Amino acid sequence: MNYSEFKKATFWKKAQNENVICLLCPRNCVIKEKGLGFCKTRTNKGGTLYSLNYGCSVALTEESIETEAIYHYMPGAKILSLGNIGCMMNCDFCQNWETSQMRHVDMKNIIRVSPKEVVDSALKRGIKILSWTYNDPVVWHEFVMETAKLAKQCGLLNLYKSAFYLSEEVVRELCGVIDIFSISLKSMNDEFYQKVTKAKLSPVLDAIRIVSAHKKHLEISQLVVTDLNDHDEEFEKISCWIRDNLGKQTPLHFVRFHPAYKYKHVSRTPLDRLYRAKHIAEKVGLQYVYIGNLYKEGAADTVCPVCKTILVERFGLKIKVSDGLSKEGNCLKCGEKSNISLNNHDAPINNLNEQMQNFKNRYSRREGSFHWNREINSVLIFL
Ligand code: SF4
Repeated sequence: MNYSEFKKATFWKKAQNENVICLLCPRNCVIKEKGLGFCKTRTNKGGTLYSLNYGCSVALTEESIETEAIYHYMPGAKILSLGNIGCMMNCDFCQNWETSQMRHVDMKNIIRVSPKEVVDSALKRGIKILSWTYNDPVVWHEFVMETAKLAKQCGLLNLYKSAFYLSEEVVRELCGVIDIFSISLKSMNDEFYQKVTKAKLSPVLDAIRIVSAHKKHLEISQLVVTDLNDHDEEFEKISCWIRDNLGKQTPLHFVRFHPAYKYKHVSRTPLDRLYRAKHIAEKVGLQYVYIGNLYKEGAADTVCPVCKTILVERFGLKIKVSDGLSKEGNCLKCGEKSNISLNNHDAPINNLNEQMQNFKNRYSRREGSFHWNREINSVLIFL
């Protein structure tokens, strides 16, 4: 191992016998000389903790902000998505397991990038938002912080998509540079967390409360896994917790699961369970509840909770902002504040209206279905 290529880690302390304790996530791994933490991205060399994945990235991808389960911030905005390798959790149903679980990573797919290269790449493409996503950005914290700071200096925004199992000090540091948080809450059951994700629930909830207290843009999603966390009690608990701790305006996304990793023996999430989740969350009082990963009309529209005007129409990842939404993000019909932040972002909306209509026409002309019960990386569909 050539340690000169690695980066000295932040958030750790020395322990007895030249061991170190990593403080990045609540797991607090005690790491011996040349040993690795649970995430396999941090090692101890001579009593100092090093990050092994600094600047190790999967290919940078241009996507739209809706890909990250963010519907209330600059709808339709382009983002530059970055992911790296490793994870502080190990969810049996992980949808990104080929990069999140180190033993499965194919290093041929990994490139080395510098903070400046990432920022330059976004600027060159006219992209205003960097999205820290895929495996989990927690485990390349040093690279995220350095790049996110540089991005801000260059007028860019940062989006952080994470399962949010991290230390409170780290959350506070992130709040200094991250503008938009998309947090995946796996369940409201601690036993589920420990057994299925190998983490714990309460640090995740505490970390989410800190983001909310910092008044950052925040949306929550739950991956609804068939026969695992897809029952009424679960939907009610997550909805009530969000209403009582983050406010009823906080968007909640129930995301459709596809079979992956150790969860290949079940089918995709049945539609009735997703609609049931949406119904329960709305009944509990949440104002903006969405179904993600689903191409069905109405599943992901933003509707004014008072007068029911459609404010943003979505079909898959295509969006159409309605004339009923003011530049300030309020419903023009009844005046209700929607909490949608357009952030002076009105340029792409007309294009998107047209794009979505074309897409919808094409899609509805040839709608079909297939039984999806095995892991699929890509599907080529001729329309
Ligand atoms: S970030 Fe990795 S090494 Fe550090 S405590 Fe968490 S799992 Fe352990």
